[in-house]
Amino acid sequence: MTALLSALAGRLDKGAILVGDMVGAAYSSDATDEVGAVPHAVLRPRNTADVSLILSTCNEFHQPLVLQGGRTGLAGGARPQPGELALSLERMTALEPVDTDAATITVGAGATLQSVQEAAEAAGLFFGVDIGARGSCTIGGNVATNAGGIRVLRYGMFRAQVLGLEAVLADGAVLTSLKGLPKDNSGYDLNQLFIGTEGTLGVVTRACLKLHPLPVSQANAFCAVPSLAAAQALLAALRQELGSLLSAFEVIFPVVYEGVVAGGFAAPPVPVGAGLYVLTEIQGQDEARDGDRFAAALMAACEAGLVEDVIVSQSPRDYRGLWALREACSAFIFSMDHMIGFDVSAPAHGIGAFLSDADDRVVRVDPAAKPYVFGHLGDGNLHYMVQSHAHDAVADAVFDAVAHCGGAVSAEHGIGLDKKRWLPLVRSPAEIATMRRLKHVFDPKSILNPGRVFDMAPGLAGEA
Ligand SMILES: Cc1cc2nc3c(=O)[nH]c(=O)nc-3n(C[C@H](O)[C@H](O)[C@H](O)COP(=O)(O)OP(=O)(O)OC[C@H]3O[C@@H](n4cnc5c(N)ncnc54)[C@H](O)[C@@H]3O)c2cc1C
Repeated sequence: MTALLSALAGRLDKGAILVGDMVGAAYSSDATDEVGAVPHAVLRPRNTADVSLILSTCNEFHQPLVLQGGRTGLAGGARPQPGELALSLERMTALEPVDTDAATITVGAGATLQSVQEAAEAAGLFFGVDIGARGSCTIGGNVATNAGGIRVLRYGMFRAQVLGLEAVLADGAVLTSLKGLPKDNSGYDLNQLFIGTEGTLGVVTRACLKLHPLPVSQANAFCAVPSLAAAQALLAALRQELGSLLSAFEVIFPVVYEGVVAGGFAAPPVPVGAGLYVLTEIQGQDEARDGDRFAAALMAACEAGLVEDVIVSQSPRDYRGLWALREACSAFIFSMDHMIGFDVSAPAHGIGAFLSDADDRVVRVDPAAKPYVFGHLGDGNLHYMVQSHAHDAVADAVFDAVAHCGGAVSAEHGIGLDKKRWLPLVRSPAEIATMRRLKHVFDPKSILNPGRVFDMAPGLAGEA
């Protein structure tokens, strides 16, 4: 370790290596409740050349690294394990000027999501991904986890925003593909290797991101609906009536809504007592007509009995207030002890069956357990949260229900350290074997985020 750090110290600037008391507690954990090891050192490169030097040196010394962006991850991927050094991208925050002709922006991996959203808006454009952790999460972390959020329905996951990447491999080789071409079939698209692979195949250092027209009209509505079936029928009706105007469709189950209201986390737009609550949004380019189309579609849904009560935003203040209520769901959930989080998805036709199956299985293993559900119904992705002391038994129960319905054990947050045990429920042995082979090719000594997503099979576990 000493030899490695002195090899780096001579070639990096003073702020690049933190050791001892300089390593703050924040570097030991992500946004889960678990606290990891204190890394012996935190390496903080300023640029891609520094990252390349750090990786080639660590590779030479067989030194494992945990990669860290904003540490807002919810799967333990950025949480240090004993013996790992932390590689933090926190100083690589540069934003290049927006290219308004191409509608792209190229940014450093350490730039926060919010800084990209703001830069896009300042140039009269819009960035398509938004998540609650926007102020702290980084573009590198968003790429590595293929982040989703509230507008996947309209703009797609993070993958759909990436036009190019720069990444550094474990041996220090730099792959730069930042031309930003919307169409490029010249050989393999290597960028895809680094999206959603949770830092196991390389370190993302820069990204060229796609921007969209800034919406001219924007409104949201909060609906009380009688049931999940009604919410699904409402989604289908709004899709049909509004097409690409529809930008978000979120659900909040009564137990969450009642908790948010009772705990004073946000003001209730409609009274409690409904079967389910929906927050939906439009973003469009026709200021004169979009609002009317939205109102007409909601009115038709009321007449069809799909909606019992609805509040439509009339001002930016109303609009922000309704979104604040949705974000208050996370605050309410995070405020409770012994909450086990599941970020799962199910096929659209099987969501109702998944929920009753999961509820049954959970209560069977822990009769005192209490499920809390909210999330991105428009994408078939629910945050199924359970308050229980029986962590492992409840996790087995929920993931068995996910596997049974043909869903995903992680829709957004990734597998990290915390969910790898359940990956074989939804990925075949051949798929996992292929993931391991890729890891071995790109990182034969297993120095990048070892043990995240899956463990290496004996024999592929890192060359001596
Ligand atoms: C309040 C709250 C709301 C959230 N809402 C959502 C949501 O709606 N949708 C969603 O998808 N997620 C959500 N998240 C989870 C989290 O914000 C995302 O997973 C985010 O993309 C993580 O970014 P980060 O920079 O914090 O990454 P980190 O937590 O630092 O790291 C996440 C993973 O990426 C790896 N990594 C980080 N940087 C790099 C890099 N430069 N190169 C390679 N690998 C890297 C890490 O090793 C780790 O495996 C939420 C989290 C919180 C706390």
